[in-house]
Amino acid sequence: MVTQTEMIYEGKAKRVYATNDPKLVIVDYKDDATAFDGKKRGTISGKGVVNNRMSNYMFGLLEKQGIPTHFVEELDTRRSLVRRVEIVKVEVIVRNIVAGSLSKRLGLPEGVVLKSPVLEFCYKNDELGDPMINEYHIFALELATKEEMQRITELAFKVNDFMVPFFEKMNIDLVDFKLEFGRFDGQIILADEISPDTCRFWDKTTKERLDKDRFRRDLGNVEGAYAEMLHRVLGE
Ligand code: UDP
Repeated sequence: MVTQTEMIYEGKAKRVYATNDPKLVIVDYKDDATAFDGKKRGTISGKGVVNNRMSNYMFGLLEKQGIPTHFVEELDTRRSLVRRVEIVKVEVIVRNIVAGSLSKRLGLPEGVVLKSPVLEFCYKNDELGDPMINEYHIFALELATKEEMQRITELAFKVNDFMVPFFEKMNIDLVDFKLEFGRFDGQIILADEISPDTCRFWDKTTKERLDKDRFRRDLGNVEGAYAEMLHRVLGE
């Protein structure tokens, strides 16, 4: 039996607890929400439950596609047992449709469909506001090795290739998303979460945003959008 022990980390949206097994930790998802490097704060009631359950469901499906993840077991609606990884300090963003910072950077309107997926990397560093970097920065700062970045790139596109048609069946455009990877037993595995906090989901018909942009941009019905995404994914 795995038992929860002391809290080892508290982030913006999650708490992480050690367990009696040194290779496992427990993630506890909160309803707290932040945006714009923590400058905007709030609560999205029920978000922790949605993000926990949706992430676990997606990780289960990705495992079946041969993508290794940190997911071990859902403990309750907000808490999950996951493998303890050393997080690679690189945020990996995959984009299919122009939105958010890419729209500003390239001067293209949101909604432009990209001819091929765009892969971006950001330095995972809150004090710096997660600046965009490329592989030269990653190798120069020794954030990851060449072999690790090859594997991360391969896995990121595999995740996208699986998720685009998966969400399409739910009448959702997967606009973009952010992944984080970790090192476990010498291997790169997918960690963190896959949720409306980390993905942009647009309804194909109405173009309604069903993700954290409702909170970032004060679009209203934030809770309803998170609940709708869980409903579409889990069929509940
Ligand atoms: N994203 C994230 N965490 C971050 C930054 C971005 O999960 O710290 C996700 C975001 O939800 C979106 C994608 O990554 O699905 C691309 O975000 P973008 O670079 O456009 O930044 P934003 O406009 O969200 O600041």
